[in-house]
Formats: sequence, structure tokens, C-alpha cells
Amino acid sequence: MSIAFTESEERIALRKAVADLGTKYGRDYFEEAARTGKKTTELWSEAGKLGYLGVAIPEEFGGGGGDIGDLAAVCEELAAAGSPLLLMVVSPAIVGTIINLYGTDDQKHRLLPGLAEGTSTFAFSITEPDAGSNSHKIITTAYRSEDGWRLTGTKTYISGVDEASAVLVVARTEDARTGKLKPALFLVPTDSEGFTYQEIDMGIVSPEKQFTLFFDDVLIPADALIGSEDAGIDQLFAGLNPERIMAASFALGTARLALAKASEYAKQREVWDAPIGSHQAIAHPLAQSYIEIEMARLMTQKAAALYAAGDVMRAAEAANMAKYAAGEAVCNAVDRAIQTHGGNGLATEYGLVQMLAGSRLSRIAPVSREMALNFVAQFSLGLPKSY
Ligand SMILES: Cc1cc2nc3c(=O)[nH]c(=O)nc-3n(C[C@H](O)[C@H](O)[C@H](O)COP(=O)(O)OP(=O)(O)OC[C@H]3O[C@@H](n4cnc5c(N)ncnc54)[C@H](O)[C@@H]3O)c2cc1C
Repeated sequence: MSIAFTESEERIALRKAVADLGTKYGRDYFEEAARTGKKTTELWSEAGKLGYLGVAIPEEFGGGGGDIGDLAAVCEELAAAGSPLLLMVVSPAIVGTIINLYGTDDQKHRLLPGLAEGTSTFAFSITEPDAGSNSHKIITTAYRSEDGWRLTGTKTYISGVDEASAVLVVARTEDARTGKLKPALFLVPTDSEGFTYQEIDMGIVSPEKQFTLFFDDVLIPADALIGSEDAGIDQLFAGLNPERIMAASFALGTARLALAKASEYAKQREVWDAPIGSHQAIAHPLAQSYIEIEMARLMTQKAAALYAAGDVMRAAEAANMAKYAAGEAVCNAVDRAIQTHGGNGLATEYGLVQMLAGSRLSRIAPVSREMALNFVAQFSLGLPKSY
């Protein structure tokens, strides 16, 4: 069997169509929304209507019946056109996957069509102030009540809550309040009584904001539980591979945009009677970025293909490697693009300095580079766990 290291014709056509949509809006649209406190609602709605947000949701629930590689391609192309949409990582990828795998039939029919069309957006919250990377330490707790459950706890750095109709909350149940995490997942409407949130002032240039969430004895109906309260960690892990594949593609889109800007500038700018791109000190770092981006894209596509084939463990290794490589690639690409532009690299007009904090995000969230390296050290190399 021969393996072609290219994507299918359908995937390539999808990329082209999404790139056209992204270009119609352009980077200025995204930055203007960030500057003026607006959202990317028009782009999100149009991407939903055209079937791009729901491309990986099964057809019977209003989606395109594709896989996570298709959704990752959408995310990458929009980011490469200037609109890196963090909520694509969260709503259709993490929450969509978990509902599709573990939701009841009724939940799937009720929730997935809106998610696929982009008419309802769901946030995802696991991070807590005192737990951080160690999810086993989360203390947000769901107590049984007559009508369902009551939820108490705090989450932090949660994206897009102001745009979401509900948040998928990772909690503990009262009888599993200590010890190893046995997560129970609840879809909590953002207008629930006792649920408040506060924006965190971030340095990232993006219309998508981050929040600290407070759940104070929030009443949630029994049918807000997604999956089983006894299913354990597997149903949470189901969302992690898509999350990492999407986070990699989110980073790679921005990396491509930065590199494209840098290459263009290096061809035009002359200070010693020749384009600065003729100096190897400028050309080689850009060539390195091209290689890093292509390698990370290949690993992202491998992770998506393994995940689509149901090979969860090998997909996890590839997804962690892809996420790590893409995070490094975008940090390097933005840094090198700024260096290529000299002083202009720090002028807002050239659009690079605005990418700096966003590119650093890819080394931190949704899983940090250190935790991705821990995964490879333990599972790929068999090294002892240090924590
Ligand atoms: C813009 C943004 C959006 C986010 N959106 C969401 C969201 O929608 N939902 C959500 O649930 N969370 C979200 N997060 C949170 C994100 O997932 C966490 O920030 C991330 O997991 C790291 O956790 P922490 O910030 O608590 O860092 P910490 O856990 O405090 O870690 C700090 C540093 O120590 C390192 N470290 C920690 N433990 C180890 C170890 N064992 N070995 C080696 N190094 C270690 C980390 O890698 C990191 O560099 C978001 C964060 C940001 C910045």
C-alpha cells in the first residue's frame, strides 16, 4: 500500500473554500473587533451556515459527517487568513466531541444541530485557580438535590463565556470529593441563577475573552449531566485529543500568516541595494520556520488520521507532539517575522506585534508545552513520572 503524504481532494477543496471565507473578512476585521469590544459574530455565523463549524458533527445531528482533521483544517485556514478563533477549539471540538460520544440521544438532537450551525456556542471549563495543570486537584463539586444537582466552585481562564449559551463544567460529585479525579460533566446555562463571571484583563489581542467563573449553589437539572457520573476519566479524555489537534491547527494558522508577512517583506525591503531576504541571516530563520510549520502540520494531520481511525493511544502521542511542535513553530514564526521587519515589526500598522501574546498562548494552553513533554517522556520514552 502506498501512502500519499497529501490530504484528500475533499480536504484540499474545504481548505480553499474556508480560506476564501477567511480572506473575505481578513485580519483587519478580527483586529477591529478586538479593539472595539465587538465579537466575530458575522464570521462565526457564516462559517456555521456554510457547514464549516459542524463539519465533524455526524450528519444526523446537522453536521457534515467529516472528522477532526476537517475541523482542524477549518480552524487553521481561518487563522491563516487572520482570524484565529479560539472558540473553535472549545465549542465544536471539545464540547461537540464529548456530547457526540457521551450524550443521550435526546441531548444530541437538542444540542448538536445548534452547535453545528453556530447558533449556539458552548464554553468548556476545567481549569481552577488552585489546581492549574493538575486536574486531579479540582474541587468544584456537584451535590445531588431533589430537582437534579447543585453546583459550587470556581473556574478560571475560561474562554468565551460571554458568547456562550452554556458552559460544560468539569466537576466532582459529592461522593468523589477527594482522591483521583472521577469527573462528572454538566452543561450549565450561562444565565443560571447563582452563576456569575468576571472578565480577566488579558494582553492578548482577540475579541474572544477569558473569565473567572463563580458557581454559588447553582441549581442544574438532571438532564444537564453529560455522560455518566460513574464513567470516570475516559469521557473527559475523549475531548483531549480533539482539543490538542485543534490547538495545533490554531497555532499553525497564525504561524503561516506571520511567515507569509515576513517573506513578503523580506522580498520588498532593501537597505543595502538588495532585498533583505538575500541575507542569509534573514532567509535562514524564515526557511527554518517553513520547515517547522510543515513538520508540525504533518504531525497534526497524523494525529487527526489516527484519531479518526479510533487509535486513541497513538493519536494521543501524536496529538501531544503536534501541539508541542505547533506551539514552538508559532512562537518562532512570529518572533522571526518581527525581527525581519526591524522597527516596523513593533509598529501596529504591520500587524505582527499584535500576534505576540496570542502566539505565546500556544505554549501555555490548553495544555502547556511542559505537560506535553511530560506525556512524551512518560509514555513514549518510559521515563519515571516526576510529579
Ligand atoms: C487565553 C487562555 C484561554 C484559556 N481557555 C481555557 C478554557 O476555555 N477552559 C479551561 O478550562 N481552561 C482554559 N485556559 C487555562 C489553561 O488550560 C491553563 O492556563 C493551562 O492548562 C495551564 O494551567 P495554569 O495556568 O494553572 O498553569 P500552572 O499549572 O500553574 O503551571 C505554571 C507553569 O508550570 C508548569 N508546570 C506545572 N506542572 C508541571 C509539571 N508537573 N511538570 C513540568 N512543568 C509543570 C506549566 O507547564 C507552566 O509552565 C486558558 C488559558 C489561557 C491563557
